[in-house]
Amino acid sequence: MKRLEGQTAIITGSSSGIGKAVAIEMAAEGANVVVNYPGGDPGLANDTMAKINAEGGKAMCCKADVSNEADVQAMFAETVKNFGTVDILVNNAGLQKDSRLVDMTVAQWDLVLNVNLKGQFLCAREAAKEFIRRGMVPSRSKALGKIICMSSVHEVIPWAGHVNYAASKGGVMLLMKSMAQELAPLKIRVNSIGPGAIETPINTSAWDTPEALKSLLTLIPYGRAGKPIDIAKAAVWLASDESDYVTGTTLFVDGGMTLYPGFATGG
Ligand code: NAD
Repeated sequence: MKRLEGQTAIITGSSSGIGKAVAIEMAAEGANVVVNYPGGDPGLANDTMAKINAEGGKAMCCKADVSNEADVQAMFAETVKNFGTVDILVNNAGLQKDSRLVDMTVAQWDLVLNVNLKGQFLCAREAAKEFIRRGMVPSRSKALGKIICMSSVHEVIPWAGHVNYAASKGGVMLLMKSMAQELAPLKIRVNSIGPGAIETPINTSAWDTPEALKSLLTLIPYGRAGKPIDIAKAAVWLASDESDYVTGTTLFVDGGMTLYPGFATGG
């Protein structure tokens, strides 16, 4: 039996990077998958959906800006119409708008907080409402529902030049823990994944030249950058009954980036 057989997963921002890998891996584990993208060219989302369907999975595309309440509600309604319910939410959509503090505009601050933090709240709220409406289905999962928040090592590591991003991920940490505390009695599990440096479009400049990669690797004790599949495997585990007693925790998937590697030889 596949680990997510018959369950339905919404993965926000899943036309590229980590979200795409999570969508493909969850579909391979038997989940019906909603490939969400924020607008513009639907080409990449359609590619992800086609790849899943070609491998025998079930996927649909859904355009929705996670920071827009009406879009999020419409995405959940469309998912329920197509697949009957939602069992798993992966709150993955996120972006960076980097700037030194003294130059950061309110627009840069608002965009990052709206997508990375408010977007996670809006999607989690709709997911919890749907889990409660649908009720327990013991043949599918021991939990009423699972929410996985894509956080970052920057929920704990300060990041100069990225105060909006670090604040959003620090916010995700307590959003996740507070939701987990509130929803555990209902058998809804809420956890985060804290990726380290994963090779995706969000951070290309950090790894796409030998010099950049060499500098990046000084921050990673395990000696390699991460791949989207590293995160996808963790997401499948957190969504499956194998992690049934796990809630309110951040699983760092970071090759040891949060181990303060600078202290390996100093301090
Ligand atoms: P990515 O740019 O490939 O993926 C981000 C996705 O979010 C894109 O598909 C984008 O279209 C989508 N998105 C942006 N705004 C949206 C909106 N308003 N509504 C819906 N979707 C929207 O980068 P990624 O690295 O795959 O990032 C995925 C998540 O992982 C993000 O939350 C990011 O903060 C987090 N993360 C990434 C890394 C890394 O090293 N790549 C490290 C830590 C955390």
